Amino acid sequence: MHAKVITLDGPGGAGKGTVSSRLAHHLSWHLLDSGALYRLVGLAAEHHAVALDQEEALSVLAEHLDVQFITGDDDLVQVVLEGENVSHEIRTERVGGLASQVASLPAVRQALLARQRAFAEAPGLICDGRDMGTVVFPEAPLKIYLTASADERARRRQQQLHEKGIAASLSDLKKDIMERDARDMNRATAPLKPADDALIVDSTELSIQDVIDLILAEAKSRG
Ligand code: C5P
Repeated sequence: MHAKVITLDGPGGAGKGTVSSRLAHHLSWHLLDSGALYRLVGLAAEHHAVALDQEEALSVLAEHLDVQFITGDDDLVQVVLEGENVSHEIRTERVGGLASQVASLPAVRQALLARQRAFAEAPGLICDGRDMGTVVFPEAPLKIYLTASADERARRRQQQLHEKGIAASLSDLKKDIMERDARDMNRATAPLKPADDALIVDSTELSIQDVIDLILAEAKSRG
């Protein structure tokens, strides 16, 4: 591996997405949002009417995914699937649910491996997911496992939805978060867990900037 790689794994809502994109921007490194790939496979399955238990057909879809990530001047990434801009659609709870189902299939995970590793180009890569440090980039010199309490993650999610004008109850959001965690942590292939050599960061009481500063300091101290 020639590029430097920093992996960020952890459950949904811990702040990985925002931390990763700001870190990549700050360092002028590449960014891999691996969750977006699983979301895209889920959406492509829906477009092509492939059932979510058709592992072989889904892995073929994953391998041949026709997707472009286009970064605008504002640093926002537009996601184009088969010529259609799906940037907003892939972020919905519905597509998140599809993603976590296709993500439990070993052949789908295998089909996405090479595509994910190809993001590791000079000068460096920040990657965000569930198995970046354990499976995709096990040699990465700096691995972060970012977590936060379920209550705090539900509160952040409620705030995000509120900003979009969507009302949601804290207890429903917490229930969804805990179900998703259980599915990601208990699956047989590439379950969500910290790599043995990961630095565990609990962001419950930290701001996004605190987390970024902590990671940059750690990267600096490791040269
Ligand atoms: O991170 P995000 O919420 O976009 O991920 C959507 C789903 O994709 C997760 O709930 C998880 O099931 C799956 N995923 C995964 N491995 C990754 C990234 C995401 O299994 N590296």
